[in-house]
Amino acid sequence: MVQDIAGVLVSQEQIAQRVRELGEALSRDLQARCDADAQAGREARIIIIPVLTGSMVFVADLIRHLPFKLKLEVVSASSYPGTATSSKGVTIHGNLPQSLSGAHVVLVDDIFDSGQTLALLSDLLGKKNPASLRTVVLLAKPGKAKVDFRPDYVGFEIPDRFVVGYGLDYDGYYRNYPAVGVLKESAVE
Ligand code: 5GP
Ligand code: MG
Repeated sequence: MVQDIAGVLVSQEQIAQRVRELGEALSRDLQARCDADAQAGREARIIIIPVLTGSMVFVADLIRHLPFKLKLEVVSASSYPGTATSSKGVTIHGNLPQSLSGAHVVLVDDIFDSGQTLALLSDLLGKKNPASLRTVVLLAKPGKAKVDFRPDYVGFEIPDRFVVGYGLDYDGYYRNYPAVGVLKESAVE
């Protein structure tokens, strides 16, 4: 695996530091919403929704910086089937989470590229009447968005390269590489 990586764009240490900062910022946001619910005599419900499979590693780290009573649900989407390294349009697999009504929902994805995945999912989840809907991505490629939608929280802006690691795959592999890097040409079909 490591021998297939041409270079690291974001190191393990940079990721750990930034995920902590994102967790702290998101926690302030959620705390304000919990306080408002308490004022109104409601118990706040927080639901974190990672977009599978790419955000598994990110969400696992992120939720441990969120000191709230919360639930985890999942959505599954893909836009890079198999060995594709450019988006082939978004496909959603399986059912969307139910009973989001009145909940504070945080949608978590690995990377914001064309933006179609997050724009579509936030539109669909927004129709389920959440009290609030925030979106968090670890990575974003500036200037690539094909939609008006922008995520609320972005970990790192990266150059327009196809990256792997920290949950991101090429043909299903490299998700367990602990940093974010680019592949050698010899590793790409
Ligand atoms: P978008 O819908 O914003 O174009 O693409 C978002 C999805 O495409 C992400 O959830 C991610 O799964 C995939 N994606 C976009 N860019 C990359 C990349 O550089 N590397 C990998 N492995 N996946 C990517
Ligand atoms: Mg994805």
